[in-house]
Amino acid sequence: MSRFFTERFAALTPYTPGEQPQERKYIKLNTNESPFPPSPGVSAAVAEEAKRLQLYSDPESRLLTQALAERYGLHREQVLVGNGSDELLNFAFMAFCDEEHPALFPDISYGFYPVYAQVNRVPYRELPLDEGMNVRLEDYDGLPGTVFLANPNAPTGIAKKVSEIENLIRQRPDSVVVVDEAYVDFGAETVLPLVDRYENLLVIRTYSKSRSMAGARLGFALGSPALIGDLNTLKYSTNPYNVNRMTSAAGIAALREDDYYTANARTVAETRDRTAAALRDMGFVLTDSKSNFLFARHPAVDGATLYRVLKERGILIRHFDKARIADWVRITVGTQEQMSVFLQETEKVLTEYGA
Ligand code: PMP
Repeated sequence: MSRFFTERFAALTPYTPGEQPQERKYIKLNTNESPFPPSPGVSAAVAEEAKRLQLYSDPESRLLTQALAERYGLHREQVLVGNGSDELLNFAFMAFCDEEHPALFPDISYGFYPVYAQVNRVPYRELPLDEGMNVRLEDYDGLPGTVFLANPNAPTGIAKKVSEIENLIRQRPDSVVVVDEAYVDFGAETVLPLVDRYENLLVIRTYSKSRSMAGARLGFALGSPALIGDLNTLKYSTNPYNVNRMTSAAGIAALREDDYYTANARTVAETRDRTAAALRDMGFVLTDSKSNFLFARHPAVDGATLYRVLKERGILIRHFDKARIADWVRITVGTQEQMSVFLQETEKVLTEYGA
C-alpha cells in the first residue's frame, strides 16, 4: 500500500477472481465460462464494429437496449446495460443500500456482494444457509434492508422457485429485492414475469455464461423505469460509455442467434447431470445444481487437496477460502469430452488417496 492510499479503503479486501492462467493450457473448469464459442454472427459483428472504434459508443446503448427490451417483452426504460453484470450489481449497492437499508445476502453466495458493500461503505449482513446449503428466505422477513439473491445461488447452484421469491418481494414492498440471474438459463425459473408487477424488483442478468461472452463484459438490469433511472444516475456519474462499441454489437448479434445459445445451455445442463451422477457413483456429495457448475465434496479428500492435485494434472477447478465450504469444490461444466477427462483424473486421485 502506498502512503497515499486513503484510509477509506485501507482495510478493503478486494474480490479474488478465479485464475486466468496464461502460461499453460488447462482444462478450465474454474470460472463458469461457456465451453462453446460465440455464434458466427457475434464474431462478424465485432469485426465490423471494430472499424468504428475512433468514435465513442452510444451512451444510451439504444439499439442493444431496445433489442433486449423486445427479447424480454419489456419497455426500453426498463432495461440498462452494463460492463458485465458486476458493474450493475455495484450500481445497485450504491443506489439502494445505506445505514437504514443494509445489504442482506446469504453467508454463502457470490463473493463479490460483501466487497461491493465494503467499497461503498454500506453495512451488510450475511444470513446463514441451512445445513443443506439452501437459502432460508423466511429469515429475511421483517429485516430492513436490500436483499441480494443469486438465483440459482452460487457456488451451490441451488435454485428457488419463483413463487418463493415472489413471497419475499411481496413481503418487503418498501425495499428493493435484487435477483441476480447470472445462471438462470441452465434450468431455473426466472422472475422476469414479475418485473411489471413489483416496483421493488430488480433483475440482473449477464451474457457471460449462457451467451458465451464472458470476455466481452456485458450484463443487463431489468426493472421498473424508476429503479432503472436510479441506476442510470450512477452510470452517468461514473462511466457514461460503459458498454463499448464491439460489445454492444456483439450483444445485439447474439440475440439474433438465440437458438444457438438455448441449445448450448441445454447441452450444458445434460452434461452437468451426467457428470453429477458419475461423481455420486464415486462417493461425492453434491447439491442439486441448476446452474452451469457443480458443487461437490468427497468424504475422503478435502477441497483444497482436490483442487491442488487436479491442477497439477492440468485441470482447474475452484476452491473457496471460506471455512464453511472448505471441504467443497466448484466445478464448471465444460464439454462432454472435458468432463470425461475430469472424471477420469478425479477417479485416479481418489484411488491414490485410498478413497
Ligand atoms: N453474479 C454471479 C452470481 C456470478 O457468479 C457472476 C460471475 N462471476 C456475476 C454475477 C458477474 O458476471 P459478469 O460480471 O461477468 O456479468
